[in-house]
Amino acid sequence: MNLQAKSFKLLPSIDKLLQSKELKPLINRVGQDAVKSESRSQLDSLRTAIANNDERILKRLTEDKFLEALCVTIKANVESEFAGSLLPVFNLTGTVLHTNLGRARLPQKAISAMQVIASEAVNLEYDLAAGTRGDRDSHIEETLCNITGAEAATIVNNNAAAVLLVLNTLAEKKEVVVSRGELVEIGGSFRIPDVMKSANCELKEIGTTNRTHLRDYEAAVNKNTAVFMKVHTSNYEIKGFVNSVSESELGGLAKKHNLPFVSDLGSGTLIDLTRFNLPREITVQESIQMGADIVTFSGDKLLGGPQAGIIVGKANLISKIKSNPLKRALRIDKITLAGLKEVINLYRDSSRLQKRLPLLQDLTRPTEDIQNLATQLLPSLRRVLSDRATIEVRPCLSQIGSGALPLSLLPSMALEITPVAEKGQTDAALSNLSHAFRKLSKPVIGRIHDGKLIFDLRCLQDKKEFEAQLVELHLS
Ligand SMILES: *Cc1c(COP(=O)(O)O)cnc(C)c1O
Repeated sequence: MNLQAKSFKLLPSIDKLLQSKELKPLINRVGQDAVKSESRSQLDSLRTAIANNDERILKRLTEDKFLEALCVTIKANVESEFAGSLLPVFNLTGTVLHTNLGRARLPQKAISAMQVIASEAVNLEYDLAAGTRGDRDSHIEETLCNITGAEAATIVNNNAAAVLLVLNTLAEKKEVVVSRGELVEIGGSFRIPDVMKSANCELKEIGTTNRTHLRDYEAAVNKNTAVFMKVHTSNYEIKGFVNSVSESELGGLAKKHNLPFVSDLGSGTLIDLTRFNLPREITVQESIQMGADIVTFSGDKLLGGPQAGIIVGKANLISKIKSNPLKRALRIDKITLAGLKEVINLYRDSSRLQKRLPLLQDLTRPTEDIQNLATQLLPSLRRVLSDRATIEVRPCLSQIGSGALPLSLLPSMALEITPVAEKGQTDAALSNLSHAFRKLSKPVIGRIHDGKLIFDLRCLQDKKEFEAQLVELHLS
């Protein structure tokens, strides 16, 4: 028998692997299917290696511990598949509403409601009084209308979906008039011109990047015009020689031409943020008062709730929007709806909102509080990093994030970590350092700036949890 044929014979059968004492406990935990399919794929690649006369593999097959080693690999691969990659992290980036880190943390009330609704049958679209089919928006519409002053409301999966649905309903194959200063891109994948295309609308750009006047809107009107739209330029601001048309002016013009005026607020807040010493942002109610017929905004930006797109406005327009077949594809799910409802309820009790809404707690956290935290953490961090880095407590500026109030920064405090490195090695040392923190059981995400790893502590809730895992930190 040649070496190849011999080697094939050395391969264990699937059954032998599945019966092995190494894999039995794993099978008990995760079930047979995953272990079987991973074993099969390992055996397949060994067979291919033998067929290719891969000497390294041929040699390994004859080693004593070959079977054990194979089981270890199978176990590791199955475990990593089951471990899941979606996990909590420490957001120390200094951006409170970080889109890549899941935006708003939810209040406990919302989390509890979501749990209850997830585990049972619910009257999602069932009218309990009439015993007939109901409407999922009905669970939240009245409260939203009470708060915003709108006549009606409907909810979808996120604000991008809200904009898409509104435009497709009100302006399919027609023109939407938007100022060139508002043709924004949000987070790379949401560009107003692209959304227009997807909604099958024609974008009618008017004005210039820095200046748009009411007369530009007026001049754009023709028989194909369907909507005036205003997009909140939420992630940048143009300063200097600028002019844009206010919501109330545009509202007036829309009325004159009998055209709907749609305002995409993006972040959308339901409360005057200056009450909390935060920068001013136009509220949804103000937008409605100033003549917007439809307002769209996100559930998980300044509102501080779960991912959702909220559409409020005139009853006749909302009713059209709700009967668009696209609504069915974009609708909110029951679990999110339950969470969103609880978050919206918190806004009905504005005096206790700050205490109850985690987002608002994070945004209004006193600097002294953050500074104390930094000072307390300094010794333990210095201990684990010892001679590998120097650490200082320094003032820094946090951002609200997700495009909300881009130029408004919040004074905060950070731990600034500067790696000790030979000349020319700083970048490598920094990346080694930040990688080590990202590899902790609860990954710590900071930001790198000017040769330093910066941990803005504004969003650190649990100091003990942060400290406890520092012993795991492993710098290569
Ligand atoms: C964020 C934003 C969107 C998209 O909202 P998502 O909830 O992220 O889908 C749309 N328009 C504006 C102006 C935004 O700021």
